[in-house]
Amino acid sequence: MNAAENIKELKSKIQQYDYEYYVLAQPSISDYEYDQLMKQLEELEKNNPILITSDSPTQRVSGQPVKVFETVRHRYAMLSLANTYNETELKEFDQRVRSGLGKDIPVEYVVELKIDGVAISLLYENGLFVRGATRGDAFQGDDITTNLRTIRSIPLKILKTDNSPASFEVRGEVYLPEKSFNQINKTREEEGENLFANPRNAAAGSLKLQDPKIAASRNLQMFSYYFYTEDENLTRHFHIENLKLLQSFGFSVNPHFQLCKNIDEVIDYVKEWEDKRSQLAYDIDGVVVKVNSIRQQEQLGATAKSPRWAISFKFKAQQVETQIDAITWQVGRTGIVTPVAELKPVFLAGTTVSRATLHNPDEIQRKDIREGDFVLIEKGGDIIPKVIEALKEKRQAYVKDLSIPAKCPVCDTPLVKIEGEVAIRCPNPQCPGQTARRIEHFASRGAMDIEGLGSALVELLVENNLINNIADIYKLKKEDIANLERMGEKSAGNLINAINKSKEQSLYRLIFALGIPYIGVNAAKILSIRFKSLKALQEIDRQVLESIDGIGEKMAESIVEFFNKAENIEIINNLEKAGLNFKEQGGDEISGGQLAGKIFVLTGTLPNLSRTEASELIEINGGKVTSSVSKNTDYVLTGDNPGSKLKKARDLGVEIIDEEELLNLL
Ligand code: NAD
Repeated sequence: MNAAENIKELKSKIQQYDYEYYVLAQPSISDYEYDQLMKQLEELEKNNPILITSDSPTQRVSGQPVKVFETVRHRYAMLSLANTYNETELKEFDQRVRSGLGKDIPVEYVVELKIDGVAISLLYENGLFVRGATRGDAFQGDDITTNLRTIRSIPLKILKTDNSPASFEVRGEVYLPEKSFNQINKTREEEGENLFANPRNAAAGSLKLQDPKIAASRNLQMFSYYFYTEDENLTRHFHIENLKLLQSFGFSVNPHFQLCKNIDEVIDYVKEWEDKRSQLAYDIDGVVVKVNSIRQQEQLGATAKSPRWAISFKFKAQQVETQIDAITWQVGRTGIVTPVAELKPVFLAGTTVSRATLHNPDEIQRKDIREGDFVLIEKGGDIIPKVIEALKEKRQAYVKDLSIPAKCPVCDTPLVKIEGEVAIRCPNPQCPGQTARRIEHFASRGAMDIEGLGSALVELLVENNLINNIADIYKLKKEDIANLERMGEKSAGNLINAINKSKEQSLYRLIFALGIPYIGVNAAKILSIRFKSLKALQEIDRQVLESIDGIGEKMAESIVEFFNKAENIEIINNLEKAGLNFKEQGGDEISGGQLAGKIFVLTGTLPNLSRTEASELIEINGGKVTSSVSKNTDYVLTGDNPGSKLKKARDLGVEIIDEEELLNLL
């Protein structure tokens, strides 16, 4: 590949990663990998300056205003920071600074922790918080004042008011403490939503949600680190004085900043925090080094992308070495058998890790990972630890190649490999491993929402032969549960109540809870609205299913297969006997609602409603939500960053509405 092609490819890759990171808040590669791609591009452009275009990601701060918010222009550009991952480059930065200022001029640095969050600018007039915005493309960002007003560490009014300045701007980082992040992800997991890869993405996602109530519930925090004013009374000559001024005004400033006399002291600080970072209650991804003197900062100036007087030293995702004691195979709800590395317990980024996923047999073969291997594991951007590589030089000669199991590790049934898929599967629906996972799914928050019936208790109930399928849940007696380990009368009573309550759950939850392969919540809703009862759905043939918008061939086949199996028929009969709701309760109202008979397709992110909320609103009012635009579609409800559905709607002349217009229809 020549340089021009290489540059073109890198640019388009980086553009895609920027979109995933800044817009979707769902990055698919680590920051380190991203920064390496950017470095390659910089290098290529340096050697081929003629190929530099103004749209190159090296020439501008990434990100963009999301437009569902009002766009505001920043008074001073909100630049990014140059970054490095090594000490040598830190020393080169010091050289550049000193030669920029003139030899023998002493330079002091302020070092601060690099908080892994979202950069925010706050505007104050007469001591009052008047506007807050995201960085956006450095020149224009989104006005997210209402969300920011919910953050406790942002003073709505500054503390000292006697000599209140006419106007000033504060910059800082909105972040999510580790604990709140885990809590949010736990809820999302239970609700079957995508997990945030890290606290930074969760913070970005929370600010983008636009609903101040949600922002308030997320426990966002802010550390402030820049102060700008044109008020002479408040002008300070050193960055460190600005930090102290911010503190005195009531802003939360990260307490670990430090003044360094030279670059060696900076390096010591970096090393100290690389070790200590896991002790913090929030994530940091490095250290920021800033020239202390404001006059020197002005002298050094900035490039289009970042100031020349600051740099961030980024920590690599933490990796630790450990050994694989064994590779075990775990059976999931649909029978997929996944390899898991059982590790010698090791402390990594705040928790002790003793297991890591190895995804599938192909991945093990590709990375050549074997039992007994010493391996590097990483949490990085992901929540679940993963095995990065086997340290082959440490491998003992006798370590044997891993054999892929031929039989299910739980029930011994011969495994099958499905064509075109990397996974191996246990085809036995009675497999106790699958049973436990299926019951867990049935009881989970997004499905029947049976509080208290989590994975540990399910395992226990299955082990003790108290339940063998989902219908058995409704046969449980209080005394069966009370006699189990760690359970008492009270918790048994609560569980029975929760089980009884779940009998009233709506039809779509029940359909989803059955665990029919390929049928997620949305498909379950479509089916529930369309067929109004589980019995009707059971009778339906494949052609009819396939004709429904939003139900694909694979789904249709899976539904028919599921309802044809004798064991499933028996389970459903037992659920009916137990008194579960089998009908779409809102059936009659639905057919008569304001949106009766109207077919909607959703695309993009709505300003206030989540997709689920919007779909529910439409369905409750008698409308139907389908997944693809056709000439039968009545409305395409569109939000920010719509997909190709919008274009299709335009081509077909389908009416396009936004959230506000939907609410007007109602
Ligand atoms: P950055 O996160 O590397 O550094 C600049 C930011 O640091 C500032 O904007 C500010 O928000 C923050 N910061 C935290 N503490 C600070 C402090 N004490 N003082 C000053 N600033 C502080 O740069 P960026 O422009 O926000 O983002 C670019 C980076 O994002 C890339 O280098 C890459 O690592 C990551 N990224 C990753 C992907 C991916 O797919 N993984 C995609 C795009 C960007």
